[in-house]
Amino acid sequence: MGYYGCHLSASGGYAAMVETALSIGANTFAFFTRNPRGSKAKKEDPADGERAVAMLREHRFGTLVAHGAYTMNLCTADPEARAFAAGVLEDDLRRMAALPGNFYNFHPGSHVGQGTEAGIDYIAAALKSALRHDYPVTVLLETMAGKGSEIGGRFEELKAILDAVGSDNVGVCLDTCHVYDGGYDIVSDLDGVLAEFDRVIGLDKLRALHLNDSKNPFASHKDRHERLGEGSLGLETFRRIVNHPALKDKPMILETPNDLEGYAREIAILRNL
Ligand code: FE
Ligand code: FE
Ligand code: ZN
Repeated sequence: MGYYGCHLSASGGYAAMVETALSIGANTFAFFTRNPRGSKAKKEDPADGERAVAMLREHRFGTLVAHGAYTMNLCTADPEARAFAAGVLEDDLRRMAALPGNFYNFHPGSHVGQGTEAGIDYIAAALKSALRHDYPVTVLLETMAGKGSEIGGRFEELKAILDAVGSDNVGVCLDTCHVYDGGYDIVSDLDGVLAEFDRVIGLDKLRALHLNDSKNPFASHKDRHERLGEGSLGLETFRRIVNHPALKDKPMILETPNDLEGYAREIAILRNL
C-alpha cells in the first residue's frame, strides 16, 4: 500500500497536521520541529500530542519523519554555536516524545573548512550526548548532495557517523534529489546504488526516503528540488523506487516545490505508479 506524505506546516499543532494529511490522501508526513531557518520552537501542548497520536493510530499512519532546522549545524567551527546546535538537537529529541516512535531526520551539517573527519567527530559527539536520554525517537541522518563542505554526500561519511555513535536508534533517510546530485546514479542504476548503500552502510539502516526530482543534472552537487517527473530523475525513476522491494514499505516524503493541492496530486501519482 505504501506510506506517502509531504512536508506540512506545524504552526497549527500536531492534530491539525494529521487532519491536513488526511485531506490530501497522505498516510505519513514531515514537519519542522522548529523554524527551519531559525531556532524558535512552538510552545508545547501535551493534549494536542495525545489527540494526534490517537488519530495517527486510528487512520493507520506510517512512521512520521520530522525534520530538524536547517540552521542546526552540529559541526560548525565556533564552539559556542556548536554547543547551541547540540542543545537544539537534544531539545528536539525531547519534544519528539510527544509523538513516540517516530523519526527525526536532520542534515548532518557543514564542516566549513575544518575537514570532514573533524566534522564527523563533532556530529557523532552531539548525537551520542542527545541519545543518552533514550527518548522514544529514531534519529535519521539525511543523505546530502555534497554542496560546499556539507557532510553526508558520501555513504562512507554517514557510515562513519553511525559507527562513532554506535546506537540502534540512528539510521539514514535517503533523499532522491540529493543522492543523484551527489553522484549516485539512481536513474540508470537504482539497484547498483542500493547495493552500494548496502555494502557501505547496510540496507537495514535505510529507514525513510525523501522523494524529490532534481532541477540539476547528475553529480551536480547542487540540491535544488523539482516536482516529480519535471526534473532530471523523471517519473520512471520514481516508479522503480516506490515499487522496489527494499524501499516500498518505507515512509516516503515529498519535498517538491508545491502547495497542498500539488502535494495531493503527487501523492495520487505515487499511488498509481
Ligand atoms: Fe532535508
Ligand atoms: Fe530532503
Ligand atoms: Zn534538498
